[in-house]
Amino acid sequence: MRPVIIAHRGACGHLPEHTLPAKALAYAMGADYLEQDLVATRDDELIVTHDIHLDRVTDVARRFPGRARPDGRYYARDFDLEEILTLAVHERVDGRGQQVFPQRQALGGRDFRVHSFARELELVDELRSSGGHEVGIYPEIKEPGWHRAEGVDLTRLVLDTLGQFGYVGHADPVYLQCFDEAELRRIRHELGCRLKLVQLIGEDDWSPLPTNFRGLRNKRGLEKLARTVDGIGPWVNQLYRLRKRDGRVSDSGLVARAHDQGLTVHPYTFRSDALPAGFDDIGELMRFSIEELAIDGLFTDFPDVAAQFLRQRTG
Ligand code: CA
Repeated sequence: MRPVIIAHRGACGHLPEHTLPAKALAYAMGADYLEQDLVATRDDELIVTHDIHLDRVTDVARRFPGRARPDGRYYARDFDLEEILTLAVHERVDGRGQQVFPQRQALGGRDFRVHSFARELELVDELRSSGGHEVGIYPEIKEPGWHRAEGVDLTRLVLDTLGQFGYVGHADPVYLQCFDEAELRRIRHELGCRLKLVQLIGEDDWSPLPTNFRGLRNKRGLEKLARTVDGIGPWVNQLYRLRKRDGRVSDSGLVARAHDQGLTVHPYTFRSDALPAGFDDIGELMRFSIEELAIDGLFTDFPDVAAQFLRQRTG
């Protein structure tokens, strides 16, 4: 099977992340799935944006001064959808205002907006009917525990919206992803969701998430996961070991262990302008992951590069 191309936040190597233009471009470049990160607004609407904060990708601080929390951050949860729709989106910056990916074009302004989950699902329907090829969606439930503490059940909102657009069955073109293992168990076993589910796997020192990621990557952890989810989304660096002595990479065994449990493997994130240690170019990383490890798909900021690699391989 050809590995699937998942457009990470859209074709965000080319256009500002999670904007409709970035999603349409990803479709045109041949992405098989478009990713949506989902966060709730004050009026319990869903928006497509990567963080629970708005300040790294929009002009919220300039437009709504005084609306930050004591930590200085502007939370999507403190704004109504109507307010958020007026913001302009720009290329991602860090806490000092420096572009996170300095080689990318500093695009922004009024052509780039935040949009609702429903609006993106409409676009996906439009692309399918006008573009001539199928495309799936890959929504992520962001920080469900944080949202619950804020008084909103993010998961239920997401499942309701998916249901309204006809995404209900296991064979439907959707993978639902989350870093929170307990929430995925709830989705499958309490809420009875039949969609394909993906456990994202990070590193335990990244943030205070409730999931023990290290324990998920061994045989026992994967065996347990397979009772709930259909696949895993590991950090790409977890696929291999890097030998300090000569900088050579070797298989960590994670992909094979996951396959032994019947789990699909969709690692993140393949970026030609931010390569993991041990790789000199994106082609080498894709060749290793696809040819040697047999991954089932990949998250990438550059769906065009992945599509070209796969064309050359089959052609
Ligand atoms: Ca994501």
